[in-house]
Amino acid sequence: MKGKKIRNGDIENALNKFLKDEHHLVLGFKKGTDGIHHQVFKGGVDNYSLINHVFGTNGALYLRRIFSKGIEVLLMMRPCEIRAYVELHKLTQIEREDIIAISIDCPGTVSSKESKNNMPAEIDQLKGYFSSNNSMRWACSVCREKRGVVGDGGIRFDKTGNLWIIPYTEKGERIISIIEGELEEIPHEMLIDRSKETEKFQVDMETFNKDFEKCIMCMNCRDMCPVCYCLDCVFNGDEYLPKGDALLNKVFRTGSTTMPRGKDLFHLIRMYHVSQTCVGCGACEEACPQGIPLTKYFKGVSERLQGLFSYMSGRSFDEPIPYITFLEDELKEAED
Ligand code: SF4
Ligand code: SF4
Ligand code: SF4
Repeated sequence: MKGKKIRNGDIENALNKFLKDEHHLVLGFKKGTDGIHHQVFKGGVDNYSLINHVFGTNGALYLRRIFSKGIEVLLMMRPCEIRAYVELHKLTQIEREDIIAISIDCPGTVSSKESKNNMPAEIDQLKGYFSSNNSMRWACSVCREKRGVVGDGGIRFDKTGNLWIIPYTEKGERIISIIEGELEEIPHEMLIDRSKETEKFQVDMETFNKDFEKCIMCMNCRDMCPVCYCLDCVFNGDEYLPKGDALLNKVFRTGSTTMPRGKDLFHLIRMYHVSQTCVGCGACEEACPQGIPLTKYFKGVSERLQGLFSYMSGRSFDEPIPYITFLEDELKEAED
């Protein structure tokens, strides 16, 4: 596979060239006095940061319902953010026509709720930093794809500290063409390796109830999930809760009851809805004020389900989401 070796300043120069067109935007990271945050750059980049070692949100959240024609957006984001974009495109929530997606090798992140003192911000130092302590978010420690191998192109780090930009589609080739230098064979060994297989998730309802007992139904987890996109969510308002005569009917039918809150229903329906598209980013858990281990459930359930269909969310633009394809001859073992 061929790519271009990137020298200091090459990426900023390329982004500035891209942004010379007034209809072009870049969504990436910017260093500020209060840390590194997602930024939409217009006209040029300033204080640009290739990576962000602190996870607050999944940037694909900002991309839902981009349908504008004639405005080209270049995404420079983490693999889990680009994978969520790919899923949103398949779910017809984003037009791919005017988006160019570049995924960047990700060494893992810490939660925005944790202390960031003495934490290096460079990728090669971060890898060493994470191996000497356990501050990495759980979602990152079991991440299925940390490599910049998804989307239209990738930025990868080799073991000697060189940075490479590699095209995967024609759009990626277009971006790479504005970077100085010639295409050359990329090294086989990169800093970030393919992820190891994780154990199959399995849990009982007792543990589920215990883990979710502190849930206050604030629905932050839903609101911050990049692939939980329904405008008209069944859990908006309180129609899903029995009340008035429906509540009285329930009490007379079943006897004394705790007041229904629909907690299990909410989480199980959400789990079912995102199970084929969840990218395991942990943005739901990051948003939870109650510290509920949501990633364990959402990532766990989705990876088991995706595995049944040999599917991996966001891996490819061409791989259809299993539930939007119908094959008569599949899942034989699940038949009655
Ligand atoms: S889930 Fe993976 S891609 Fe996303 S921030 Fe963590 S390590 Fe990076
Ligand atoms: S359910 Fe959680 S882990 Fe899965 S995509 Fe949504 S925010 Fe990320
Ligand atoms: S964010 Fe946490 S507390 Fe709020 S609904 Fe989700 S699991 Fe419950």
